[in-house]
Amino acid sequence: TEKGSADLYFHYYGCLMHQQNMLQDYIRTGTYFAAITENPADFEGKAVMDVGCGSGILSLFAAQAGARVVYAVEASNMAHYARQLAAANPGIGDRIKVLHGKVEEVEVPEKVDVLVSEPMGTLLVNERMIESYLYARDKFLKPGGKMFPRLGRVHVCAFSDEALMSEVATKSTFFQQPDFYGVDLTSLHAPATAGYFGQVVVDQIPPNVLVSNCVSKTFDFLTITEQELYEIVIPLSLQVAVPCTVHGIASWFDVLFDGSQTQRWLSTAPGLPVTHWFQLRCLMEQPVVVTQPGATVSGELRLVAHARQSYDVHVTLRAPPLNPGGPPQESTGKFDLK
Ligand code: SAH
Repeated sequence: TEKGSADLYFHYYGCLMHQQNMLQDYIRTGTYFAAITENPADFEGKAVMDVGCGSGILSLFAAQAGARVVYAVEASNMAHYARQLAAANPGIGDRIKVLHGKVEEVEVPEKVDVLVSEPMGTLLVNERMIESYLYARDKFLKPGGKMFPRLGRVHVCAFSDEALMSEVATKSTFFQQPDFYGVDLTSLHAPATAGYFGQVVVDQIPPNVLVSNCVSKTFDFLTITEQELYEIVIPLSLQVAVPCTVHGIASWFDVLFDGSQTQRWLSTAPGLPVTHWFQLRCLMEQPVVVTQPGATVSGELRLVAHARQSYDVHVTLRAPPLNPGGPPQESTGKFDLK
């Protein structure tokens, strides 16, 4: 049930080891630190809310940047540790008020000048926490208030990776056995293969497997509505420079901290120092083949929100015919985002 999955979700974040995993992501935590502390003009004397404060680290950064008060909202039991950490850091921690509860349910004595949050999941929107960030914006942010981060972008690109293809295809060869203790397993080979291909691959993408331009979709956190995140469609128009087999699409995201004094991007792109989000690939069981240099692979990436904190991912790829006079190629796939 939805309740059960929310319990699991907040149980996960209630564990210090999982907060540690995020804290020690140096690109993530270091970029937040720089983006907040380089912009004292946005924090000095201000009321701030930290949406999903976890250990309270971003609240402590906001206090370092001069915030008058930080409402640190956390639904999981990590709230107790956030309170402990604030108390153990006098001078900055005194200005932090930890509120244990969902941002959708807590009461706060005033509207705030700034929201800080780290609500990003894989593909930016996974975990559906950005919806809580927008909820906090509508309920608690003063008109003209700032959001750190202010916007996010999802980037999509075609990839060609024979090694990944054979690695995944090989996993189901187990079911090709016609005599497994006298039992013919082969009828299960196709569904087992579909199961392996139906999972997104989350790892560090070698930049050399990327074979097209990128298309991007921007989510302006100051203006988008929660409803716009329920179904997200990214139309694809990918020019593939060199003839090759397109095995699927690669994706990553970045977010912008639009401070009054400095602007900073937190990027999770391939080729840059890796983060705990890594990058993401949808590997098509049926790849499409590009025979002409510069041909366009079209289609779409469609994300459909689940009741639980996740999305179904649907990919459609279309390419020109493999042989002159033949039908255009079309491949579809559905993927689970964990
Ligand atoms: N801000 C911390 C933690 C980020 S992880 C940091 O940057 O290190 C996201 C946190 O938000 C988790 O601890 C999770 O429990 C919390 N969270 C998610 N949805 C929430 C909601 N609706 N209300 C309050 N907290 C939430």
